[in-house]
Amino acid sequence: MKLSNRITGINAGGSDGWETYVLACEMEEAGKEITHLTIGEHDIRTDPLILEAMYNAALDGHTGYTALGNGSVGLRVRIAERVEKTTGIPTSPDNVFVVPGGQAGLFATHMGCCDPGDRAMFIDPYYATYPGTIRSVSAEPVPVPARPERIFQPDPADLEAAAAAAGGVSSLLINSPNNPTGVLYSRETMEGIARFCQEQDIWLISDEVYETQVWTGAHLSPRMLPGMQERTLVVGSMSKSHAMTGSRIGWVIGPQEVLERLDDLATNTTYGVAGFVQEAAAFALGLGESFEEKIAEPFRRRRGIVMRLVEGQNHVRAIPADGAMYVMLDIRATGLSGEDFANGLLRTHHVAVMPGESFGRAAAGHIRVALTVADDRLEEAVRQLLAYAGDLSARRTD
Ligand code: PMP
Repeated sequence: MKLSNRITGINAGGSDGWETYVLACEMEEAGKEITHLTIGEHDIRTDPLILEAMYNAALDGHTGYTALGNGSVGLRVRIAERVEKTTGIPTSPDNVFVVPGGQAGLFATHMGCCDPGDRAMFIDPYYATYPGTIRSVSAEPVPVPARPERIFQPDPADLEAAAAAAGGVSSLLINSPNNPTGVLYSRETMEGIARFCQEQDIWLISDEVYETQVWTGAHLSPRMLPGMQERTLVVGSMSKSHAMTGSRIGWVIGPQEVLERLDDLATNTTYGVAGFVQEAAAFALGLGESFEEKIAEPFRRRRGIVMRLVEGQNHVRAIPADGAMYVMLDIRATGLSGEDFANGLLRTHHVAVMPGESFGRAAAGHIRVALTVADDRLEEAVRQLLAYAGDLSARRTD
């Protein structure tokens, strides 16, 4: 029997970008000790206080169907307050839709904005799931390069050119602070993006799952810009901000009339998010900013370690990391592709990083280092990485 083209086409038959990671896991299984600077997962687990709240909520009876597919009123009030406080934009619980993680939010928003066959734009380099998410709603992914020469800030002229070449688009997906580049979009970039969306009369989907991980500058949500509230859908998550990746809890912020339609989707897919997880999430948000800073702090510190080490040599260049739990390194001076560099580093030094190519074409010749291991281990791994790059450069000039 035939499977749907929709499901067999999600990965478009190509690479899913995880080959180096899979190879690292295979080497680990074969007994090698690998330092994983690959996936974006904290090296701490969810705080026991949050787990206790989850456990108590379950014991209190929050284990049945939840009444509302869009989330409990209590949690939506907390999220709305948080959004209003950080953005200054009036936000009511009716502007909040609770979803099982940011990824579910990316799917739901594209489902809401794109009809089958519509073109949906996103910025390259991109988080690995973006094109697959777009294809899973039967839309066509349209990547727009953000170039290393512009420190990966998208250029409105490129957006316009890509939209024209595609013959019109329905939505644009952006992500700041950015995975994989660590770049924070400037006000100028955001204003250019907002202007573009208004001129084209399209939806802006703003993936802000790294909003609490900002090291330099300030995060600007495009929903804060004039004329953008009614066309922006913000995707948020507690995976990164509260080290709750496994709890699968996130949200979509947007106009009430859009979120009412997402309710129909929830009824026919997720049936909402587990009540005890929602209770724990409300509790976790109540821990406030100081808790979120505590969760982000190790990444701020480790970003400093990597930037300092990279400054001390000239074979590898760091993209200024403004935010998120990654540093992107330009390794083009070694003469290798990101893929060959990552595979070589893994085989020779047992250090696993993600090749830039796994995040799209624009990050070719780069690698992404996740700041997700203890400081001393990270420092040792980055020293090995730089030594490896130095050897390659030396051989190149021999
Ligand atoms: N967006 C970006 C940019 C991410 O890096 C991730 C996870 N790594 C997600 C969305 C999805 O996160 P989650 O579903 O855990 O909220």
